[in-house]
Amino acid sequence: MKLGRQRLCLLCVLFASAVNAFALDREAFTFTNYDLNVRVEPEQQRLGVRGKITLRNDSATPQKIAVLQISSSLAWRSIKAGGNPLQFISQAYASDIDHTGALSEAVITLPEAVPPKSSVDLEIAYEGVIVIDATRLTRIGTPEEAAHSTDWDQIATKFTAVRGVGYVAWYPIATDDASLADGKSLAEVLARWKTREATSAMRLQIAVPNDEGEAPELLVNATTCPVAHEVRQEFLADCSYRSLGWAVPTFVIANYEVVDRPAIAVHFLRGHDASAASYANAAEKATPLIGEWFGAPRSKAQTADLPDPNAAPFESGSLLLTPLASANPKIVGLAAAHQLAHAASSSGRPWINEGLAHFAQALYLDHQSGRQAALDYMGLHRSAFSAAERDDKEKQTAAPRSDEEASRSLINTNDEQLYRSKAMFVWWMLRDMVGDQALRKALAAYRADEDKDPSYMQRLIQSRTQRDLDWFFDDWVYRDRGLPDLKVVSSFTRKTMPEGYLLTVTIDNLGAAGAEVPITVKFAGGEVTKRLVVRGKSSGVIRIDVPKRPEEIVVNDGSVPERDRTNNVFKVEQGETAK
Ligand SMILES: [Zn+2]
Repeated sequence: MKLGRQRLCLLCVLFASAVNAFALDREAFTFTNYDLNVRVEPEQQRLGVRGKITLRNDSATPQKIAVLQISSSLAWRSIKAGGNPLQFISQAYASDIDHTGALSEAVITLPEAVPPKSSVDLEIAYEGVIVIDATRLTRIGTPEEAAHSTDWDQIATKFTAVRGVGYVAWYPIATDDASLADGKSLAEVLARWKTREATSAMRLQIAVPNDEGEAPELLVNATTCPVAHEVRQEFLADCSYRSLGWAVPTFVIANYEVVDRPAIAVHFLRGHDASAASYANAAEKATPLIGEWFGAPRSKAQTADLPDPNAAPFESGSLLLTPLASANPKIVGLAAAHQLAHAASSSGRPWINEGLAHFAQALYLDHQSGRQAALDYMGLHRSAFSAAERDDKEKQTAAPRSDEEASRSLINTNDEQLYRSKAMFVWWMLRDMVGDQALRKALAAYRADEDKDPSYMQRLIQSRTQRDLDWFFDDWVYRDRGLPDLKVVSSFTRKTMPEGYLLTVTIDNLGAAGAEVPITVKFAGGEVTKRLVVRGKSSGVIRIDVPKRPEEIVVNDGSVPERDRTNNVFKVEQGETAK
């Protein structure tokens, strides 16, 4: 009996260690370098890739197994190290990181365990087709047409466009499974992968057969990508990403025509001449303003047409893919401002990278049509992210819980609504607080490769202003304290000599995030505006001189995103005036 139990226990231990040995750590390796020869055959909708990749063990333990994943429509042909074929098992792995909803995963036994911080080089070959596939969307109930306008990647004779991680795993990746059915999982898996890959390099030699006689145009969103040239029957491009940053490696092959301007090239499909020209004109008009704020472009902005007029636009770095045919001439300037901001500045931090590009749109509207137009536009974005906060009943009355404060903070969040829309407001509030000159200088001094500490941006701005910004960055950037809720609680009016009034206004902030907010006093024939800082869960008092009897007080012109804006107007009772 006693012996039996011991044996059982021994088996237990053996079994447990066997399980551990086979549990895959899919995110152990960072792919630090890609050197890929990619052959695209539009006639066959086919892709064939050979090349070399370098994997660095970024886990804390030696790794004997490596995992390589490609789209489930592609298949592994060979995996070698130092010229010797490696043993690997190829299996399907369900994940919504690919448009097909699955990956072809190679589970490789390495010649020897790779110690932490060490690297291994692998020679790889794989091939297969890339056709329109929206399985990951249709299986969660997205109507087919809408799904295809979202997942439009394909290789085809008329038009080829293939986006990388998050759309089509056309180059090897290694990630845990992601599911669209589980709200945040895809965004989180993608963010982890992109963070790991931010400093990785990629070289792509892309070849396309050119037997039709008419050379197609090949666009790649790489750091350098000299114009593709013809060699015998092939069309070749040699492109490099110095470091991937947040780029999604993407290639497009189409019979484009081009409107080429100094700041932007617009690649358009037959018949879309007018929309292409109007986009280029809008971009040229926005160029000086974007230059003043974000500096000279580091690369020329590229806009490329998509044939499906309903296709969802896609941007990566300074490349924008968008259906030009359905471009609304009234808003092309907005799209161009966003794109030019990306061409001029970039950051590995989404709230800076995307937040600034959205801020550029607000600046553009301010410049074109005035502050109110910018605030109206920002208001559309406010409803997007405050709706998300309102979903949660608790949020109506309370600030985010402490565990959410850090995870939902602009510094850490993977939530697009926050790092796009909320970040745009944060940049606008900073502009209102420190002024254009100080903020522009801080942005000009920003270096993405020096941005290693979360407080780097704050320090850049802080050094150019007398303002204390600690509380602001704490409430809005380092933590998510929710939104302010500002309210005029009282006003006291006193007649002053010879002709005028002094108003003492008390503002309450019922929310936990502080803000500097404009307060406007309206009177017959005019208004006066002053600004006041009201910290979270506290009150502030301000005195405002007005030349005539005050009629109405309005707190917040819309530049501060608020939880509740129904309590922002206060009618001044005429009887309240004291002598
Ligand atoms: Zn963007």
